[in-house]
Formats: sequence, C-alpha cells, structure tokens
Amino acid sequence: MASSYDVIVVGLGGMGSAAACHLAARGLRVLGLERFGPAHNRGSSHGGSRIYRQAYFEDPAYVPLLLRAHELWEKLAIDSGREVFTETGGLMIGREDSAAFAGTLNSARQWGLDHEVLDAAGIRRRFPTFNPAAEDVAFYERKAGIARPEATVTAHLDLARAHGAELHFAELVLGWEADGPGGKAWVVTDRGAYTADRLVFAPGAWASKLLPGLGVTVTVERQVMYWFQPEGGTGPFAADRHPVYIWEDPDGTQIYGFPSLDGPDGGAKVAFFRKGVPSDPETLDRQIHPDEIEAMAAHLRTRIPTLPGRFLKAAACMYSNTPDEHFVLARHPEHPQVTVACGFSGHGFKFVPVIGEIIADLAIDGTTDHPIALFDPRRVRVRPLPR
Ligand SMILES: Cc1cc2nc3c(=O)[nH]c(=O)nc-3n(C[C@H](O)[C@H](O)[C@H](O)COP(=O)(O)OP(=O)(O)OC[C@H]3O[C@@H](n4cnc5c(N)ncnc54)[C@H](O)[C@@H]3O)c2cc1C
Repeated sequence: MASSYDVIVVGLGGMGSAAACHLAARGLRVLGLERFGPAHNRGSSHGGSRIYRQAYFEDPAYVPLLLRAHELWEKLAIDSGREVFTETGGLMIGREDSAAFAGTLNSARQWGLDHEVLDAAGIRRRFPTFNPAAEDVAFYERKAGIARPEATVTAHLDLARAHGAELHFAELVLGWEADGPGGKAWVVTDRGAYTADRLVFAPGAWASKLLPGLGVTVTVERQVMYWFQPEGGTGPFAADRHPVYIWEDPDGTQIYGFPSLDGPDGGAKVAFFRKGVPSDPETLDRQIHPDEIEAMAAHLRTRIPTLPGRFLKAAACMYSNTPDEHFVLARHPEHPQVTVACGFSGHGFKFVPVIGEIIADLAIDGTTDHPIALFDPRRVRVRPLPR
C-alpha cells in the first residue's frame, strides 16, 4: 500500500522548495521528491547570485508579483535567519530605445516605482567601473539587488521541514497518474510509490519529460556564468557600492552582472542574458571552453574595462524557455488535481517566494488573487520578449 499525502511536490529546486514551504505552512501533509541533493548545482538554481528588481522590461504585468515577492524575501530572511537577498541597487544600461532602458522605464512609470535616469556622464560619475558610449543612458532603481539561490532553497527546505514536510532527496520520479476530477494522484519513483490528493510539478529543465501533455513546449538552453577578479582588486566592485546591472547593446545583446561577493580575493560574476545553445538536461555540456571565456572577456574590455582582469571560474546552468518566454504557472489543463510551475525562461528566480505562495493557492483552492493570466499554458503565444 503506497503512503498517502495531501500533496506531493516533484522537484525541490527554486520553485519546488518554495512551494513545499508554503504548502506545509498552511497545514498540508507534504511530501517533496528531489532527484539530486538539497540546493544542488545540476539544475537552474545555483551559482551564488540572481538579479532581482522591481521595474520589469519583460512586461509591466510582472510588477505586482515583484512587489509581493519583495515582501516575501524580507519575511524569508527573518523566518530563516539567512541572507537570502542583498539590496545593492540595479542599473539598466542601453540606448534610449533599448528594451532594458525604455521597457524598464515604461514599467516604472506605469506602476509609480521610484527610479532615477542617468545619462552617460552620470553613469560614469556615479558608477566609475562602467564605460558607456555617449548615446547610452541608464535606469537606476534602489530596490534591486542579489537573490542568493542556494541560501534561498536551503531556507525554504528548512522551513518546509519545520512545518512538518517530509523531503526525500536522491529519489527520481519516474512517472505519475491522476484519476478523473476529484480522484487521487499517483507518483512512482525509483524507490517506491506514493499517492496524494494533489500533485505539484516544479521540475525545471526536466519539464518536457515529466509533463508531456501540457501543451507548451519548454526547451532547454545552456547558459554560462563567469567569475572574474577585477584588475586592481575588487574594491570598486564591492556590494556596498556597486549595483547589479543589465547592459544591452544596439544589436539587442544583453549581459548582466553582479558586484563582487566573495571578499577581496573573490570575483564578480557576469553572463550573457540569452544566446545560449539548445541542450538536453541529461547531456548538458558542463565544460566551459576557452573560446567562451575569451568571448566574454572581449565583450567586457570596452564596456567594463577593469572587470576581466583575471578569469577565476565558470559554471553551466540551464534556462527552460517557453516560446514567448513567459512562465507556465497554472492548474494542469487536463488534470485539476495537478499544479504546474515551469518554463521560467531564465528570469524566474527573483519571483521564487511569490511563486511558492501562488502554487499553494492553486493547489489548495484552484485559484489565486495574484495576476497570473500571462502564465496560462493555453495562452496564445505570440512573440518572444522584447530585446
Ligand atoms: C545562468 C542563469 C542565470 C540566471 N539569472 C537569473 C537572474 O539573474 N534573475 C532571475 O530572476 N532568474 C535568473 N535565472 C533563472 C532562475 O534561476 C530560474 O528561473 C529558476 O532557478 C528556476 O527554478 P526551478 O525550480 O524551475 O528549477 P530548478 O531549480 O532547476 O528546480 C527543478 C528541480 O526539479 C528536480 N527534478 C527534475 N526532474 C525530477 C524528477 N524526475 N524527479 C525528482 N526531481 C526532479 C531537479 O533536480 C531540480 O532540483 C537564471 C538562470 C540561470 C541558469
């Protein structure tokens, strides 16, 4: 006889750990199943840092979720006693008509968010590590910074456990079934079988393997994060004086980066926002090649000249992209007892705590007060995000 739960959460990465925490905090009997270890580096939630921000060029519809996420980041830091985020301020650099600048400014105006606009001279004066072109401008917001993926996943797992959740690691989910409306759901793993009233899937890059009937294609893109020791030391890149940033070129290429987080000998992380190679999570190339490192260093030399002083390390990660790069977050169209959260398309981490809250709403009530129409798997998909 399989053990029975109120809800089984499949995947305990960024989203699944938050879901397990919120569901358990609401009194449900939760089983969490994860194929790797706690806060591992084989999915999409590793590498020490993620940008969070409030104004959002991807679509102003995300802003209310970001405002709620910020409240929940603060609560998570208090409840867990961990540094799950660090406010550094955020700078979006580009030409006046770039998505990074114009789109961000538009969303800030629409939602009345605090911000400043800097011209090229203003950028240089305020943030001397940057070497913008004369035509570049920047949007600056104070309420932006660094979310810490491993600390966040650990915090949510600890709190989930404290609220009574049972969490299994190194257990691979092989398949699942859900009976008709109101019926039980089943999960089979490499160690056993379990039943529950509801299932939650937060499988990251493995979404297409576990959720074939969803109706949305989720494709995996390999992405590399690079750490450099700046020439002349990390001083000017310290987190108390250097913002997180996104920098868009006239051809739409975007890089993003962080202050130095690891003390005087540590490095500052930087990456290309998109431009990754299509991949499969089972065979992802985790090796970082010399030509990739050189391409990043060359890109930085004219824009942030002191950053590529010495290459320290790099790591591969995965984006799980939908065709329009908006999330999938809904009850499964064919199985009302199943909630799905996937396709975060390389920009999901800053939402983690609010996604946990929404998953709990959907799994328990079937509906949420948060605005998530954009994330319906049955939406008509039009075009990728602006850039
Ligand atoms: C390089 C990089 C930079 C990024 N930068 C940013 C940023 O600056 N800001 C931002 O907001 N977002 C950013 N993102 C995106 C963000 O990190 C992701 O959207 C988010 O981490 C996705 O979380 P997830 O829970 O969907 O995936 P994961 O955290 O990967 O979790 C999925 C989990 O499911 C488990 N799983 C899968 N299949 C099974 C199975 N069959 N059985 C058991 N377990 C299973 C996996 O092992 C994994 O732990 C970035 C991503 C990358 C890769």
